[in-house]
Amino acid sequence: MQHTYAKRVTHMENSAIRELLKLAEQPHIISFAGGLPAPELFPLSEIRESYAQVLGAGDPSVLQYGTTEGYLPLREEISDQMRSKGIPSEADNIFLTNGSQQGLDLIAKLFLDPGDVVLLQNPSYLGAIQTFRSYQANFATIPTNAAGIDDIALEVSIKLNRPKLIYLAPTYQNPTGTTLTIEERKAVLRVASKYGVPIIEDDPYGELRYEGSALPAIRSFSTEDEVIYLGTFSKTLAPGLRLGWIVAGKSLIAKLVVAKQGTDLHTSTLLQRATHYYLNHFDANQHIETIRQAYKVRRDLMLSELQENFSNQAIWTKPTGGMFIWLTLPEKYDTVNLLPSVLTGNVAYVPGAHFFTDEGSCSSMRLNFSNPTPLQIQQGIKLLATILTL
Ligand code: PMP
Repeated sequence: MQHTYAKRVTHMENSAIRELLKLAEQPHIISFAGGLPAPELFPLSEIRESYAQVLGAGDPSVLQYGTTEGYLPLREEISDQMRSKGIPSEADNIFLTNGSQQGLDLIAKLFLDPGDVVLLQNPSYLGAIQTFRSYQANFATIPTNAAGIDDIALEVSIKLNRPKLIYLAPTYQNPTGTTLTIEERKAVLRVASKYGVPIIEDDPYGELRYEGSALPAIRSFSTEDEVIYLGTFSKTLAPGLRLGWIVAGKSLIAKLVVAKQGTDLHTSTLLQRATHYYLNHFDANQHIETIRQAYKVRRDLMLSELQENFSNQAIWTKPTGGMFIWLTLPEKYDTVNLLPSVLTGNVAYVPGAHFFTDEGSCSSMRLNFSNPTPLQIQQGIKLLATILTL
C-alpha cells in the first residue's frame, strides 16, 4: 500500500551516508564512526545482580505501571547527585526519560511549531538536529568568534531570528569534543534570559573528564528555570538501558508528564528499580573512574597517532573529555566523497557534513575513541592516513 504520510515526514529522510555507515558495523572494519561506549567496560555483573535482586524480592510492583515522572526514590537519588554538582534541584524537578534522546523529543514536542527556529552550535549532535527537524523547525547558528561564543552577535541573532529554543552541549560536545568556558556559559544564559529563550543543556558526556576540573553546568547559574538540563546513564552505565533524566522547573515537568503520557506512559518500572538498586549497592563513582582511565588512554593514543600520521596536513581538536575528536583536512578534501574508498580500506569515520544543519561540503570528520580498542586506534589511524595518502 502507498501510504500518505503527514507533511512532517518529508523532514525525516534517510540519508545515503547513514546507509553507507551500516557497512562500518562489519567486524573487519576498524570503526571510528560510532558513538558507542566500550562494551567491555559495562558493569554487566552488577546490573545482572541488580535486576535479580529487584525481581527476587517478591514485590510484584516492580512489574506494575508506574508514574509518568518516574520512580520517586530514583528521582530523589538523581536530585541528590545534581545538587552535589551544584545544580539546585528537588525530586520534583527531576523527570525520567528513555534516554536523553527522548528528553529532546518531548521538549521539541512541547515547544516547536512548524517554522520555529532553534538556535544551536553548528556542528551539533545529529540526533538533536533530526528531532528538531521532525517537528519542522528551522535553524540558526550560535555565532562564534576567535574567543568563542560572540555574545553581541548572539543578541543580534536572537533579535533577528526570535528562536523558540537554544540547544547546547556545553561539555565535551558531540561531534567536536569542545567545551564552553564559564564565561561563555554565563554569557549565553545572560542573553537568553534577557529575551526569554529557554536553553536545552544536553550533558551526556560531563562525567567523562580526563583532565582539569569539572565546569559548572549552565543550569547551576540559572535562577528562573530558563535552563532545561538533560542527563543520562547511557555513557556512565550503559546506553542499552535507555534511562535519562530532565532537570527543569515544576511547571515544565507538569507539561512533560502530559507529553510523555501520549508517547509511552512511563519509563520501564523494572529498569528504574534495578538502576536504583545499582546506585545504592554498588560504587558508581568507582565505575566512572574506571571508564575515565580507559578512555583517557584511548584519547591520548588517538592524539599521538594523529600527531604522527596527520601533523603536516590536518588539524584536530584536543578534547579534555567525552568520546570524540574532530579532524579537519585541507579544504580540497570532501569527507563525504572520500568515505566509500575509506570503507573499502576497512576504516570508518562519520563525515563532518552530517553534523551541520545545511549538510554542505566539508573536509572534517568525527572520530570516536571510546569504542575501538587501543590496538585498533593505532592500526586504524595509520590506515586512514595511508588511504587518504597524506
Ligand atoms: N545528546 C548527545 C549530545 C548525544 O551524543 C547523545 C547520544 N550519543 C544523546 C543526547 C542521546 O543519548 P541517550 O542514549 O541518553 O538517549
